[in-house]
Amino acid sequence: MAKPKSAAATPVVWHVVRRSSIHSQGVFALRDIPPGTRILEYTGEKIGKRESERRANERLARAKVTGEAAVYIFNLNKRQDLDGSMKSNIARLLNHSCDPNCEAIQSRGRIWMTALRDIKKGEELTFNYGFDLENWSEHPCRCGTDRCIGFIAGEEYWGELKTILEDRAAIVRAKKKTEASAAKKTSAKKKSAAPAKKKKR
Ligand SMILES: [Zn+2]
Repeated sequence: MAKPKSAAATPVVWHVVRRSSIHSQGVFALRDIPPGTRILEYTGEKIGKRESERRANERLARAKVTGEAAVYIFNLNKRQDLDGSMKSNIARLLNHSCDPNCEAIQSRGRIWMTALRDIKKGEELTFNYGFDLENWSEHPCRCGTDRCIGFIAGEEYWGELKTILEDRAAIVRAKKKTEASAAKKTSAKKKSAAPAKKKKR
């Protein structure tokens, strides 16, 4: 296939916004994307840390009511964060995945959604939101990949999260066991009670 000579002169549009099966709207590959490609910039307003904390807390409080996992604030440096909540920032629509094909990479104070691997035309673009475990149970993951851990969390927290989930599963199993043996006792009682009733007649 012949490549256009002036490819660098015209910026290539790599993405398109569509409905997503993961959540609401998503961003999809408009064409095949090679690894390392800067697909689109995560744009926003540069804000100080104090303002960033105020906005994040406000959004987290709202998220508790709506169930949205949307904070849209990126750490830029020691003094500043980037608030990408405005509609013009298309990159805010990228969904989270436990097996993402993109990564948010910072370069000279700008954040780029960058391809981690070969991405085929039509694939949904995703990245790991990197959440810590503070409110993990409020953010179930629906990425549907084989690697899905069930909740939105940064990979550095997966070990801890797995332990929490295993402990929780063990508690549920123990509870079910107790309930089952209680149910057995009740049904045994009922059985012994039934003939007694008949006798009364
Ligand atoms: Zn997942």
